[in-house]
Amino acid sequence: EHLHAIQDHHGYISARHLAALAHMMLLPMAEVYEVATFYAHFDVVKEGEDAPGLTIRVCDSLSCRLNGAEALIADLQADPPRGRRVLRAPCMGACDKGPVAAYGRTQLTGCTAEMLRAGGPFPSPEEVPYDRLDAYVEGGGYALLRDLRAGRLTADAIIAQLGEAGLRGLGGAGFPTDRKWTLVRNQPGPKYLAVNADEGEPGTFKDRFYMERDPHRLFEGMLIAATVTGCDDAYLYLRDEYPHLRATIATELHHLRESGLPGDIRIHLRRGAGAYICGEESAMIESIEGKRGLPRHRPPYVAEKGIFGRPTLVNNVETLFWVRDILQDGPDWFAGLGRRGHKGIRAFSVSGRVREPGVKLAPAGITARELIEEYCGGMADGHAFKAYLPGGASGGILPASLADIPLDFGTLAEHDSFVGSHAVIILSDRDNVADAALNLMRFFAHESCGQCTPCRLGTEKAAAMMAERHWDETLLGDLAQAMRDASICGLGQAAPNPMMSVLKFFPEDISRRES
Ligand code: SF4
Repeated sequence: EHLHAIQDHHGYISARHLAALAHMMLLPMAEVYEVATFYAHFDVVKEGEDAPGLTIRVCDSLSCRLNGAEALIADLQADPPRGRRVLRAPCMGACDKGPVAAYGRTQLTGCTAEMLRAGGPFPSPEEVPYDRLDAYVEGGGYALLRDLRAGRLTADAIIAQLGEAGLRGLGGAGFPTDRKWTLVRNQPGPKYLAVNADEGEPGTFKDRFYMERDPHRLFEGMLIAATVTGCDDAYLYLRDEYPHLRATIATELHHLRESGLPGDIRIHLRRGAGAYICGEESAMIESIEGKRGLPRHRPPYVAEKGIFGRPTLVNNVETLFWVRDILQDGPDWFAGLGRRGHKGIRAFSVSGRVREPGVKLAPAGITARELIEEYCGGMADGHAFKAYLPGGASGGILPASLADIPLDFGTLAEHDSFVGSHAVIILSDRDNVADAALNLMRFFAHESCGQCTPCRLGTEKAAAMMAERHWDETLLGDLAQAMRDASICGLGQAAPNPMMSVLKFFPEDISRRES
C-alpha cells in the first residue's frame, strides 16, 4: 500500500523513494526493491533514468486480440502518441468490450488508436446503478447477520444449508464451501478471512459484475463467513485493474464501518498491482502481507497457516455473494437453479465470437452450445462455431463437436479440460486455434512468478517452440509433462493445457497460422 501511495502521487517510484521507504519501514532495501519490481503497475525508475510519461497499457490477451488488439498496438507503435508510453498488458477484465486499454488509471473499452492519440475527451464510462447501504438495509440486508449475532440463526445451520445448496468455490477450484468453512471454524484463533477479488484469468470479468451491482451483498456474505468461522479480520483483495470499482467499494465500506454493522470484525481493502499470480490463494496471501506474490508450497494449507501464519478462510467474491440468497430463499431454491442435476447458478463470463457477449447468469450444467444460443443471441454474424475455451486461459480448448457437455466442475476432465472460473471464450471458423494457444502461452510466460524452473523456463520454451511453423509434438509433450509434474502451483501445471488441446483436436491449424 505504501508503494501504491508513492506511485499514485508521483507517477513512478524512484531509487530515493525506495531508500526512504526502506528506512521508514526498517526493512532492507533489497526487500523493498524486490516487491516494487515484482508488480507490473509499479514503475520503478533507476538512478539516472528519466521518469516515464503517462502510460497507456493495451490489453493483448485473447478476447481483446479477437477484437483487434494487435492491429491497435501496431497502429500505436507506428505512430506513437506524443509523450505517452505504450505497453502491452494482460487481461483487464472487460473482455466483452474489447479492445481494452488503460490510459493512466482510466480504463477504456472499444478503443481506437485515434482515441488514445487524442488523449481524450473519452466517452463517459457506463454508470452501473447499485444499492447503497440504506437501500440495501431497507431491502432486508444484514438481517441475517443480525439473526446470527442474536442466536436466532446458528453457525451449524448456516454451514448445513450451504452444503445442501451445493455452494462451491467459484474462483475456479470448486471446493465445497461448507467443508472449507468447517475446516477453518475448527482451527484456533486468531483467524483471518481473505476475499479473492483478483480475477485475472483471461476472459473472466464476473466478480466485477457482482461488485459493481451489489457490493453490500458481498459484504454481508463476508461478515457472515467471518462470524461463522471466527475470523477477526477480513481482507478484500481487489485487482488494480478496476480503479472505478475500488472507489465505490471504499465508499461503501466506509458507510458500513460507520454503521457499526461489522461489529468487532475489521474489514481491510487491499489492492493488487497487476500480477495475475496473485489470484492464486497463497500468492494472494503473500501479497496481502506486503510481499511478492510467490505461491507457497503446500502443506500446510492456508486453512491452517495463511495470513501471518494464522488459519485463513479464502473465498471468492461470487461464492460469498450467494450466501445471503441461499440462507433467505433456502438451499433447495439455489440447488434447483441448475440443469441436468447440477446445483446452482453461475456467472459465465462470455466473450469472443458471439452476438451478445457479457456476464450471463445461467444454470450450472448448461452446455456451451446452449449458452451461445439461449444467452448470447447466437454466434456473431458471419462466424461459425469452431471451438471454445470453457475456463479461460488455463482450462484448455475444446472443439464445437464437444459443446454439448454440461459445464461444471469435473465434467470436462476426460478431455483434459476444466471450467475453472467459468470464463467461456468462443472461437469461430475465422480463428486459428494454434494462434490462440500461442497467445495464451505467452501470457503464462509473462505472468509466471519465476519461482520454479519447470514453469519459468517451460512457459518460455513452449512459447518459443509454438512460434515455429512446425511443432515438435514429442518434445512439447515431454515439456508439458514436466511442467504438470513439477511446477509448484496451478499456473505452471495448467499452462500446457491449450497447447495440448491444439495437438489433440486442432493439429491442422498449426501449419495454417498467420503469425
Ligand atoms: Fe511461480 Fe509458475 Fe512456479 Fe507457480 S508454477 S510458483 S507461477 S514459477
